[in-house]
Amino acid sequence: MLVNNIPYKTYLAESEIPNAWYNLRADMKVKPAPLLNPGTGKPLTADELTPIFCEELVKQELDNDTPYFPIPKEILDFYKMYRPSPLVRAYCLEKVLDTPARIYYKFEGNNTSGSHKLNSAIAQAYYAKQQGLKGVTTETGAGQWGTALSMACAYLGLDCKVFMVKVSYEQKPFRREVMRTYGASVTPSPSMETEVGKKILAEHPGTTGSLGCAISEAVEVAVKNPGYRYVLGSVLNQVLLHQSIIGLEAKAAFDKIGVRPDIIIGCAGGGSNLGGLIAPFMGEKLRGEADYRIIAVEPASCPSFTRGKFAYDFCDTGMICPLAKMYTLGSSFIPSPNHAGGLRFHGMSTVLSQLYHDGLMEARAVEQTSVFEAAELFARSEGILPAPESSHAIRAAIDEALKCRETGEQKDILFGLTGTGYFDLKAYEQFNDGTMTDYIPTDEDLAKGFAGLPKIDA
Ligand SMILES: *Cc1c(COP(=O)(O)O)cnc(C)c1O
Repeated sequence: MLVNNIPYKTYLAESEIPNAWYNLRADMKVKPAPLLNPGTGKPLTADELTPIFCEELVKQELDNDTPYFPIPKEILDFYKMYRPSPLVRAYCLEKVLDTPARIYYKFEGNNTSGSHKLNSAIAQAYYAKQQGLKGVTTETGAGQWGTALSMACAYLGLDCKVFMVKVSYEQKPFRREVMRTYGASVTPSPSMETEVGKKILAEHPGTTGSLGCAISEAVEVAVKNPGYRYVLGSVLNQVLLHQSIIGLEAKAAFDKIGVRPDIIIGCAGGGSNLGGLIAPFMGEKLRGEADYRIIAVEPASCPSFTRGKFAYDFCDTGMICPLAKMYTLGSSFIPSPNHAGGLRFHGMSTVLSQLYHDGLMEARAVEQTSVFEAAELFARSEGILPAPESSHAIRAAIDEALKCRETGEQKDILFGLTGTGYFDLKAYEQFNDGTMTDYIPTDEDLAKGFAGLPKIDA
């Protein structure tokens, strides 16, 4: 359908799927700070990382200079099952908002796992398989990453062991069964299966868990079992690299219709979809070729960017993972059980943290009920039932479009619609029943998390 000469959906041909990932770090003048060995306080070497991660992924993790990484043919073949993803003009939402702004979204929910996470899951599983490994371990919060990884592992014939944050394990039994159907084993975290799980349970009996705990458990199992490696669905440089496929496709689709977005918005949990969506645009900005306003949106209940500290911290609660310099609420911070499970991580990608610190992007925090109001408006106007995580970006996109209504400006707004919300209907139920509440940590709550930050001067 053509409206005002701009198509309703802009698709790339299969042959137009980018054949290389873009490494944003190559264009950063101030590089993200290196991961540190928690024992020595020194930057981690490839040799220290290979017992945890696959070799090829270690190379990607540590490479701050190579701008493009060719995507192996097997991964491209898998991408072709569900990519390119559409870039959609939200005509119906614009009409409801009565805004002169043009709103576009890049929809990543068109695969069974229901989110963008499959883009990195297939890459990480592929490199594990290539290295001759037996299997991988991981954590999952809301369950999207575990589902994506179990799909990728089923496709490649790898064993997949998932530690699922307990609150999600109980709230989302259906997602658990999808993972088991793809052959993964799923354990609620914290569990009695690991030393770190036993320790956390002893200290916090009855805890609903956190991504940080689940990461510690998954790493412990990977390190103790020969032939296994740990894989992570967000935060890491390698994950942002794989997710650059989102931004590269979006840029190609915009180029096709001759549009340049003014504002680019994404929800931020660990930063992977946002880092991927903005990659080529931020690259232009860093090289001085174009300017974009870029906005990260996070939950007010887990406000890493807007209220966190830019400091070295552990990525996990068990304090066994490397230290990363990032915006963090402290590795012991356990957010209240809000419904955007995928945004409940205490830290943030080091790449995005550095860009934010250098003033190259903005961040804002939004409350859960206002996020679901946006989700409902979006569902009723655009027809897609959005994931609660994605709805943070919808909230900000709507707010920016409403500002345009005030000023009369005709801005082009792009946001990342990272996934669908079919497994989040408990949350929608609370919203529809009017029983949903907003959890905002007090300064005292946050001070407890900051008190546990490791003392590192770097
Ligand atoms: C995991 C997830 C997110 C947040 O993760 P990032 O790494 O910050 O992108 C956002 N949306 C959905 C649907 C997710 O599953």
